[in-house]
Amino acid sequence: MAALTDLTLAQARDGLAAGEFTSVELTEAHIAATEAVRDLNCYILETPEAAREMAQAADDRRVRGEGGSLNGLPIAIKDLFCTTGVQSTAGSHILEGFVPPYESTVTRQLWDAGAVMLGKTNLDEFAMGSSNMTSYFGPVMNPWQRAGDAAAKLVPGGSSGGSAAIVAARGALASTGTDTGGSIRQPGSFCGIVGMKPTYGRCSRWGIIAFASSLDQAGPLTRTVEDAAIMLGVMAGHDPKDSTSVNVPVPDYEAALGTGVKGLRIGVPKECRLEGTPAEIEGLWQQGIEWLKAAGAEIVDISLPHTKYALPAYYIVAPAEASSNLARYDGVRYGLRVDGDSPQEMYENTRGEGFGAEVKRRVLIGTYVLSAGYYDAYYLQAQKVRTRIGQDFHEAWEKVDAILTPTTPSAAFAQGEKMDDPIAMYLNDVLTVPASMAGLPAISVPAGLSGDGLPLGLHVIGRPFDESTVFKVGHAIEEAANFTATPQLMAGGR
Ligand code: GLN
Repeated sequence: MAALTDLTLAQARDGLAAGEFTSVELTEAHIAATEAVRDLNCYILETPEAAREMAQAADDRRVRGEGGSLNGLPIAIKDLFCTTGVQSTAGSHILEGFVPPYESTVTRQLWDAGAVMLGKTNLDEFAMGSSNMTSYFGPVMNPWQRAGDAAAKLVPGGSSGGSAAIVAARGALASTGTDTGGSIRQPGSFCGIVGMKPTYGRCSRWGIIAFASSLDQAGPLTRTVEDAAIMLGVMAGHDPKDSTSVNVPVPDYEAALGTGVKGLRIGVPKECRLEGTPAEIEGLWQQGIEWLKAAGAEIVDISLPHTKYALPAYYIVAPAEASSNLARYDGVRYGLRVDGDSPQEMYENTRGEGFGAEVKRRVLIGTYVLSAGYYDAYYLQAQKVRTRIGQDFHEAWEKVDAILTPTTPSAAFAQGEKMDDPIAMYLNDVLTVPASMAGLPAISVPAGLSGDGLPLGLHVIGRPFDESTVFKVGHAIEEAANFTATPQLMAGGR
């Protein structure tokens, strides 16, 4: 039998159901695997004791013939989700020591389905970043290495870098992430795993520490498309506690996978052919087109004319919302307090010490674009652009059922690279941000390796609330790509 940590979530589920092993055994294997890859710094907090208790409780339920669809399956949680009685930091010094008295709706649903929590994963501070370099708790290392260059430490992408790296390294069967502009899909692509961002409103944001409320969405990171479908089925659903969560039924995503892509129309947007994109990424995109054609899909050239404005508009809207959301960290209500001689000074000292450089940059940009003198020129203008981006997609849906692009303009880069050039860092999200601005579901599926042996993802965008088609197309790519490469730094070694 394969090592327990090599199983997919679906295989582990079936193995538990067949009585081949217990959740305690499965969980112990993942706790040991976590220790083996601790140098990657995937976790801000490991919770092995809680995991053991949850695993035992899952086994007890199974004996009684009870237990939900994830009963006994060990997973990791991005440390942006509030978890009752367990420190939740958002990767920030300002929330160090913050122990929420409440559980996010998404994690509540996972625990109700029987999942086991291994710990809280590392992330860019307040989910602002594409490299995991902005975490107060130190960078996460990508378990993949460049061929012939083991010395270069690569980033796992961000902001859900810890969640992506631990799943790639076989330390967890699956994990949760959040995606505001690409933070599930880009780390999924960099770490050679599947990352799925559902439609805005599909998962409740209640209890997820807010970055940019009109963009943030929870979603799964897994090693297969099937596993992503299983996870999302549990994470999704209407929540009266989040007024932006949408009350539409959650379909059986797993069932959608088997139905194939025959007759589906797949759009290829010309505006995503970006200048300077490496030939190997262009080549992979073309390969994806050929795969889907061979599977019976029809390829349609489309235009999304406002694509080039998506990134600049995102970097107005997201910081604007962030500056407003982060106003609550004042040294009074949560986490860190740095005293001063007056309340004003305490407030300034706390925020000055508690926030890192990238968060401060965003708060400054956000406050600026919302200020009386510049609101019309920046924020309002960006909102208009956002509407146009949404219209582009709306028109595309008359011609196609899904859209295919690469996930990222490059493979994983080295730690420290792009740190002194925020624009170069922001360009990571150039292909993922349009779907975020339009609130659309999108998935990244590992599809090939770069010339130096690093994973590259293909990106599928779908209609609002049509995650099923996104999964179906993702699955077809997965089958054709047959991506079996594994990272160099993983539990069990290779
Ligand atoms: N990299 C993007 C940013 O820094 C997206 C982050 C995210 O999706 N949370 O804003």
